[in-house]
Amino acid sequence: MTCDLVVENAAVLTLDAEWRVHEPGFVAVRGDAIAGVGPMAERDDWEAASAVDAGGRLLMPGFVNAHTHVAMAAFRSAGEDMRDRLGRYLFPLEKRLVTRELVRAASRYCLVEMASSGTTTFADMYYFEDEVAKSAKEAGLRCVLGETVVDFPAPDAPEPYGGIAYGLRFIGEWLGDELVTPCLAPHATYTVGPDRLREIRRVSEGKGLPALMHIAETAPENARFRASHGSVIRYLRSEGLLYPGLVGAHMVYLDDDDIGIVAESGMSVAHCPASNAKSGRPICPAGALSEAGVRLGLATDGPISGNGMDMQGVVGLFPKMQKVLALDREAVPARDAVRAATLGGAEALGLGSVTGSLEPGKKADMILVDADAFNMAPVYDWYAAVAYAMRPHNVDTVFVGGRVVKDGAGMRGVDEAAAKADMRAIAASCSGVIAELERGTR
Ligand SMILES: [Zn+2]
Repeated sequence: MTCDLVVENAAVLTLDAEWRVHEPGFVAVRGDAIAGVGPMAERDDWEAASAVDAGGRLLMPGFVNAHTHVAMAAFRSAGEDMRDRLGRYLFPLEKRLVTRELVRAASRYCLVEMASSGTTTFADMYYFEDEVAKSAKEAGLRCVLGETVVDFPAPDAPEPYGGIAYGLRFIGEWLGDELVTPCLAPHATYTVGPDRLREIRRVSEGKGLPALMHIAETAPENARFRASHGSVIRYLRSEGLLYPGLVGAHMVYLDDDDIGIVAESGMSVAHCPASNAKSGRPICPAGALSEAGVRLGLATDGPISGNGMDMQGVVGLFPKMQKVLALDREAVPARDAVRAATLGGAEALGLGSVTGSLEPGKKADMILVDADAFNMAPVYDWYAAVAYAMRPHNVDTVFVGGRVVKDGAGMRGVDEAAAKADMRAIAASCSGVIAELERGTR
């Protein structure tokens, strides 16, 4: 058999249904997809146009970051440790500072960090998502991009409800792209009313697209819908607003009944343990959701919430927080955490047949990791090594659709020095407003 590329002599962590690990093994790539995976004993069945000798390094699926706001890299470290930060600080900040130019440059900057740490697919919700799409294409990353819809004027849609019209234009421009899945992202239960949410459901399901939304994230939201409907989840169910294409980020205010309702609805969850912890919020019952059959992905949230955009910062924190929640060392083993950070995220975003594991037919979205590093070796258990010991600097080479997007020399599609210079200019232009808002809210 012939292929374009073979990566050989690797420890191949497939994340397939049998949890196969080929050590040493290979992955054969034809076009943008995986054509073969197996032990080195089967390597010679393949005639490859080019070969990469992994030299014993780890080859695994790229990470899937299931919930981000990449352009918020422009505001990283602003307004931290503040009560009611979203309403008192962030919404006013965004109203004054978010422009098309900022989103373009800040998203490109953020994608360097994400790709360099091994993320090959990300889901984003923000304004001017068409600019995020252009940045993602430059960087060469796969993504699901949700144009934000809120019931008040937004940076890219001055009319109330304008986000849907903007989003539909965005979807029209990008639908069918090999890397970018465009969609709508209603901001939250408390910023978008039920009629608008139903319209978004109708549009999204009509086009076969996911819809991204913050759900059961904040204390006021929980208090309001607890009083009116018993819980946020029961409110959404009563309005017919839980459906298989819905990806709920956070989901920290859930009781046992809610977990059953979520599982029954077929919706997915993007779990953001670092962001939720920094906000002093309850721990999402992510282990129980996963056990109930809910498609569960992991996410950093945005650069002012997470704040690191590397998945290493959440893949170990997820099981640790679940162990704290359950007071049980056996809760959420490392293997389940690695799955949630890769295939689980892909499934949650509706890309489970496209990416997330190393199997024939899937896109060749994979990373080479130097596990012979002081912080990773020795390795007796690959899942434990990835979940608990791996750090961003261990990621060596990143492939998306078989193309190298990052290697030892850096990003292929992004001028990193220019991206840094752009961010310095953005920070200089934002610092006055950031300081003024800080003074007004402390
Ligand atoms: Zn978010």
